Amino acid sequence: MIKKELLTARMRGYALTGYGREVAELTDSEKFKVLSKALMEELLPKWRESLVKFDGHKKAYYLSAEFLMGRALSNNLLNLEVQGEVKSILKELGIDYNALEEAEDDAGLGNGGLGRLAACFLDSAATLNYSLTGYGIRYNYGIFRQTFVDGRQVEEGDDWLRDGDTWSIRRADQRVKVVFKDQTVYAVPYDTPIVGFGGGTINTLRLWQSEALQPFDFQAFNDQKYDRAVKEKNDAENISKVLYPNDSLEKGKILRLKQQYFFVSASLQDMIRKHKENHKDFKDFAKLHAVQLNDTHPAVAIPELIRLLGEEGVSFKKAFALATETFAYTNHTILKEALEQWSVKLYKKILPEVYKVIVKIDNHLRKELVQKGLSTEEIEEFEIIHSGNIRMAWLSIYGTHSINGVARLHTDILKDTELHGWYELYPQRFNNKTNGITQRRWLLESNPELSAFITKLLGSDDWITDLEELKKLKKYAEDDEIIKEFMAIKKTKKRQLADYLKVREGIAVDENAIFDIQIKRLHEYKRQLLNAFHILYLYHKIKENPQMEITPRVFLFGAKAAPGYVRAKAIIRFINAIGKMVNEDADVRGRLKVVFVENYGVSYAQRLFPAADISEQISTAGKEASGTGNMKFMLSGAPTIGTFDGANVEIVEEAGLSNNYIFGLTVEEIEELKGHYNPAKELKKNPALKKVVDSLIDGTFEEVVSPEFQELHDALLLGASWHAPDNYFIIRDFQAYVEAQERVAQDFTKPLEFYRKGFINMASAGKFSSDRTIEEYAREIWKIESIDTPRKARRIV
Ligand SMILES: *Cc1c(COP(=O)(O)O)cnc(C)c1O
Repeated sequence: MIKKELLTARMRGYALTGYGREVAELTDSEKFKVLSKALMEELLPKWRESLVKFDGHKKAYYLSAEFLMGRALSNNLLNLEVQGEVKSILKELGIDYNALEEAEDDAGLGNGGLGRLAACFLDSAATLNYSLTGYGIRYNYGIFRQTFVDGRQVEEGDDWLRDGDTWSIRRADQRVKVVFKDQTVYAVPYDTPIVGFGGGTINTLRLWQSEALQPFDFQAFNDQKYDRAVKEKNDAENISKVLYPNDSLEKGKILRLKQQYFFVSASLQDMIRKHKENHKDFKDFAKLHAVQLNDTHPAVAIPELIRLLGEEGVSFKKAFALATETFAYTNHTILKEALEQWSVKLYKKILPEVYKVIVKIDNHLRKELVQKGLSTEEIEEFEIIHSGNIRMAWLSIYGTHSINGVARLHTDILKDTELHGWYELYPQRFNNKTNGITQRRWLLESNPELSAFITKLLGSDDWITDLEELKKLKKYAEDDEIIKEFMAIKKTKKRQLADYLKVREGIAVDENAIFDIQIKRLHEYKRQLLNAFHILYLYHKIKENPQMEITPRVFLFGAKAAPGYVRAKAIIRFINAIGKMVNEDADVRGRLKVVFVENYGVSYAQRLFPAADISEQISTAGKEASGTGNMKFMLSGAPTIGTFDGANVEIVEEAGLSNNYIFGLTVEEIEELKGHYNPAKELKKNPALKKVVDSLIDGTFEEVVSPEFQELHDALLLGASWHAPDNYFIIRDFQAYVEAQERVAQDFTKPLEFYRKGFINMASAGKFSSDRTIEEYAREIWKIESIDTPRKARRIV
């Protein structure tokens, strides 16, 4: 229960002290700020109590360079179960809740799946009453804001802290020093509450901001050397300035290395300081701390903990044993080029003391391998320091007790091929934790209509904390009346999205068409280009036969390309060029539409997933570790058109092959094909595809062919210095993809049958809750217990 008088008085107080005006006189953005401050005031006492209840118990920590949180207002209100009340209080005050919701900036401190996973995990852990603290960096600029100019991606800084961040509290009292060879800075923590559903547990996301020891040099200023007077401040603040600075130059690489060490060292110092408050030594450290490394970005934690314990008088041998017992490592990629390495030179230059510890770890490993009877030659494969580089994945395997992949197929590939050698050395360390998503954000918050329908059918909202409950909906799959209601909700969500697209993108779409959606980072392996080729193929077909019958489709894309990833940017421009041609052509009107939404992020995602008819998960088999977008579509009741890759395998296992559209080469088939695949030969057999590929360079889109389209074309047919032609088997998989799409189009003409598949997908999505994933981490890796708070004590005023 929220007391209306109290909430109103608090909002008024913040309006007056913060803006010098009454609430009614504020802008939407200011109203959002005073509401969130009032909520924080309610939350704080509960938050403190919740932290205390875990005193003396083992706790888990999630070290991650990224947390892609999105907005917090609705999430917090829903998890506190007061959204309805607050909405009606605001209504009485004449305030439009939706406008306040929209006024909140996304906290976009991540690139994509890996950062969003971290955010879902925090939500699940708090909901399940586990103590899980997130540790990361308070980037002043998150993932860039994307616009399109003439179809090209343009990046702008995401100044999300412009007006401050009302959800975080600066804890200057708990700042620590982080020391680099050439620089020492303060790491100042900012704490954000992570409210579990029901409000029983409120955990903390602690993000570190880098600040100067001496922000202002008075003497220099007095000498009229104004730049020098603030140089230390600027140099220090650069460390937490932006997510993923461009690291094409050495200066950029140094900054990225400093970011990693900065948040890792600060977080470990934080844990050690708190540990010392209650313990005279470190022998129980690993019994009280479980630290998960989200990929290798925080891998420097392994030598850093050993170094810090060394300063406390713990021997290397003991500290190494404590480190392996404390840390666990999640691997997120099979792409070889994505396995992180750092040059020894850089480490020596910036972190010489840490480097010395890495050398010790490497020697320790060598000794162990000699004892195991490996030859010098065999040992080379495992060396952490190898030809002038530090292999961070190797460090992460040797320095932890658990290595997990993020979907069954991914973990199997790690064990069988990529990390096979390591698997043979330490088989018991390897395990799988299939990713998940939180149904609080990806169903309850983003789709209240479907949520209410599910609750009505089940006669309970237990699914909010137990997604396996959805199974019980399967018995309605043959009930046409139920499927019709489900269809009507999908139609509502499609109409809402259509209205939004009209405003945001200036494009009108027909909500009776198939909403065919591919939203994820732009990467060659994700094969947005395959999707684009299919659109062009359909376009050519209609142009050749304008009278042909075709199921109308809206193709929706959302994706950011890394600023330095030239080919990914070319693909964006290509899709936008196709969109312009298709959308302006009277011959295809009412049949094909292409929309590439600008600035795809969490909040946009929350509008797109619920409106999907079909989920595009078409990566080259073996390349997508898991995917989580695929799970959000499934939970929203959309079948998958996709390859047997990542978690698609498990999705189909749960929902049935016949309710999805699986096509294309398998991992095994690709392995067999490698070395004798000739895409040029395949093209000869397929004139329709040839016409599509030719369009890149035949003047269809530009009078003078641009180098970027030429390069896209050549990468397919000639390859490049670093890869074979058509490295991602787009040409090879094209026909199978077209046929799978034809099945989609065919099935869509029988809506009841098509949406039955969607309904069954939704009812089968229970496994993909991040609650299940977190439960597995907690039991099998972290070995922590859940501590609930009695319901009575949870309520906010
Ligand atoms: C879920 C999500 C992702 C991950 O999508 P994949 O399809 O799994 O790559 C990326 N970005 C945002 C904003 C998301 O919500």
